[in-house]
This record gives sequence, C-alpha cells and structure tokens, in this order.
Amino acid sequence: MRPERRDIIPAARICSSAQYLNHTASNTRREGPVIVPRPDHNVSRSQISKNALRVLYRLKDAGYKAFLVGGGVRDLLLGREPKDFDIVTDALPEEVRRLFRNSRLIGRRFRLAHVHFGREIIEVATFRAARDAEPEQDRDPRVDRQTDAGGRILRDNVYGDIDEDVWRRDFTCNALYYNIADFSIWDYAGGVQDILDGTIRLLGEPEARYREDPVRMLRAVRFAAKLGFRFDPATEAPLLTLGDLLDEVPAARLFDESLKLFLSGHAVQSYELLRHYGLFGFLFPSTDEELDREHNESFRALVLKALENTDERVASGQPVTPMFLLGVFLWQPAVNLAERLRESGDAPMQAMIEAADTVLRAQQQYVSIPRRFGTPMREMMSMQLRMRNQHGRRALRMLEHPRFRAAFDFLRLRVAAGDEQADVFEFWERLESMDDEHRRSAVSPKRGERSRRRRPRRRKKKSS
Ligand code: ATP
Ligand code: MG
Repeated sequence: MRPERRDIIPAARICSSAQYLNHTASNTRREGPVIVPRPDHNVSRSQISKNALRVLYRLKDAGYKAFLVGGGVRDLLLGREPKDFDIVTDALPEEVRRLFRNSRLIGRRFRLAHVHFGREIIEVATFRAARDAEPEQDRDPRVDRQTDAGGRILRDNVYGDIDEDVWRRDFTCNALYYNIADFSIWDYAGGVQDILDGTIRLLGEPEARYREDPVRMLRAVRFAAKLGFRFDPATEAPLLTLGDLLDEVPAARLFDESLKLFLSGHAVQSYELLRHYGLFGFLFPSTDEELDREHNESFRALVLKALENTDERVASGQPVTPMFLLGVFLWQPAVNLAERLRESGDAPMQAMIEAADTVLRAQQQYVSIPRRFGTPMREMMSMQLRMRNQHGRRALRMLEHPRFRAAFDFLRLRVAAGDEQADVFEFWERLESMDDEHRRSAVSPKRGERSRRRRPRRRKKKSS
C-alpha cells in the first residue's frame, strides 16, 4: 500500500519551499528546475549507499556535476529502501572510467560506466542530449545515435546537460535529481508533487514516448504495481492500444523486464495490471490464451496462487527462481499439447516431455528463457507425472532429485488450485517426513504386483 502523504515528506515543509507554492505537476518542458533545498525534503545522506556517496563526491571533487537520479531519489522520498543507486554526471564515460580504477564501460545502446565495489555496482551515466538535438554523426564525438524505421531507439549516445537529460527520462517520479554539491533536489517536471499524489506520469507526449521505447509500458505497470501509484489518464490510455509494439522488443530484454515484474515482491499486482491492459499476452501468449478460456478455473487459480506464493517468499527473504513461475505459466499449454500427443499415440511421459519442450520453444520468441532456467523447468513439469508413480526405487530416487523441492511445491499449488488430487501430494509429504527404513516400506509394491511385474515377458513367436 502507498504510504500516507505525511510519511513521505512533511507537506508543510515542501510547501514552505517558496518555489513550490504555485507549482503543479507538469510533463511539459519548463525553463529551470524547482530546487527543493535540503531542509525542505527528507532525503538524507545516511540512507544513501556509502559507495554511491563515494562516487558522487569523487566526481564533484574532480570538478564535475554529480547527481543521484531515478529510483534512488524516488524511493528515498517515499521512505522506501532503493534497489540500486543511479548517478548522472557531466563527465563523459571515458572520463568516469579514468576517475575510477574499479570501473568498466558497458552498453552499446546507452554507454554507461559501472563502478564496482565488491558485489555492489554503482551505475554512472553521462547527461543525455535532448531528443530533438540534431545528430551530426560524422563530426561530433558526443553524438552517436541510431533509430529504426519506426522510430525505436537502437543506439543513443548523444551527451548534453541536465536540463536536456531530464526530458529523456521516462516518468516524472523518476526524473528527480539529488545534487551532491548542496544536497538539494532538482525537479523539472513536478515529480515531487506526483510522488506525493501517487501518480505515474510519462514525460512528454505519451504515445511518442511509448513508440520510442515500448518497454516503458512495462515499466509503467511495474512502478504502478510496486509503488501502488495510479496512472495519469494520458499515460494510461495507450497501454490499452499499443501492446503490439512489444513484438519489436528483443526477447532477452523482455526476459529481464519480466524478472523485475514478477520476482520483486509485487507479482500479483503486476500480473493483474498486465492482464487488465492486455499486455500479458504480448509476453506469454500461450498462457494468456488459456487464462481467457472458459472452464479453466483451476489454471487461473494455479497462476494466482503461484504469484501470491512468490510474493510471500520475497517478503520473507526466501529465494525465488524464475523457472518456477515460468513452469506454472506454461503448465496448461503443455498439458493440453501432451494430451493431443497422447491421442496420436505417444506414451504419457514421452508426450509430456515433448510438449514441455515445444511450448518452451514457442515461448522463446516472446520472452526468451535462458537454458539454465528452461532445463529445470521442463524437469519440474515432467516430474508432475512421475509423482503419480508412488512405488519402488524410482519413487525413492525422486526424493534425491535436485528438482524434487520445486516439483513438490508445484504439486502442492496444483492440489490447492484443484488441478491434482490431494492424496498424490499427501503421499510425498508423508514420505518426505519418514526415515529411510519407513520410506522403503512405504514405496514397496504389494506382493501380487511385484510377482506380476517380475515375470519376464514372453517373446512372441514369429509366425512363419
Ligand atoms: P528501480 O531501480 O527501482 O527498478 P529505477 O527508476 O531506478 O527503478 P532503473 O531501470 O534503475 O529504474 O533506471 C534508472 C533511471 O533511468 C530511471 O529512473 C529513469 O529515469 C531512467 N530510465 C530507465 N529506463 C528508461 C527508459 N526505458 N526510458 C527512459 N528513461 C529510463
Ligand atoms: Mg534504479
């Protein structure tokens, strides 16, 4: 839930900032920023990572401008702990590189410096020029921009100043700058007001901004889900109509974005918003189709339970893996295909393995799934069938399988969703809690069955 306004920034203090008195949120360009001085906001250096502060100070001491920007400022204003700290400066990437021995230049589309401090990475970007600055690609080393025929940005390394950089950002709440020189916050677009009101508002003309980078639609949904904000109507409307632009986005980028949507503790909310705006189908089309089908209550329940379960795990600090949710998403499409393959003569296990393989391959065109998740996902799926076999050494071996825990949790959710009989899960739950000896007797087949099974098959006589 969104914190109360008074928890964010004491309203009286913000209003005491003279420039703020007649200030309203706006996503159109204005001359200068509203500068909120340190006493009028609640962002304190004690909440900023030590390493981010080190980078900010070193840039400043070397004579450059240096600001904290983006989610770091937004989340601190909201009283939340930022996920990461992004810094922006007028130093060129190569200059940043020279200033920090522990840095690397990355990215092609956007060139950035990553400054490494053990496991923490501080991202340092150089101010970008306004979109309408004419690129003069041949002469100016600060210009390197390329778009495709539809206007989508492919490469974009045109450097400018802060008052240009701001309009290149996505939402007003992400376009606030914390100045290390005097600890003030620079607000060009009414971002502070939008944070106070809980509004997601794109900078500039929404449709054009979504066309420039369709992933902004997913980011809009993600921030609404994460922060509990509502959309400004002009920001919201294109979400319902421009989803097919996502077809043009590389599947690997959509995978990264999907992880942020579903594994950051607000999966249920992300899912509901994506479904509401018809965007989910551009990420997981076969899942979306099943979710829309009548009489598929158990699959809808399974998906929802898996998302709830993921959020609970994130909230309590337990690990989460994308393969589990992906397995849930692709479960019904795989089961349906397996059924068709069985009808055309495949053995049940063979059919399941082949079906899981096929739906995963089809999925890769939309959101690509790295092999390290795809392989265990297929195992987890086919184990659902194996778990119905509760006899003999095979059953015991299942307990040792590296995917047993995931398959077991998956089975539990399927039972809860009405997709599998409760006794199948109860058997494994009991078996797991037993010692070795009891396990052996629990899985040994009844006498009659054993003798029947052991009888060697007779060879058919060849008819001459
Ligand atoms: P979080 O880190 O909590 O996910 P964030 O807002 O910091 O959220 P990042 O992906 O870390 O998001 O990006 C940092 C900042 O870069 C954003 O706040 C925004 O100003 C800018 N930005 C990122 N992606 C885009 C984009 N696709 N279009 C325009 N600006 C962007
Ligand atoms: Mg960030």
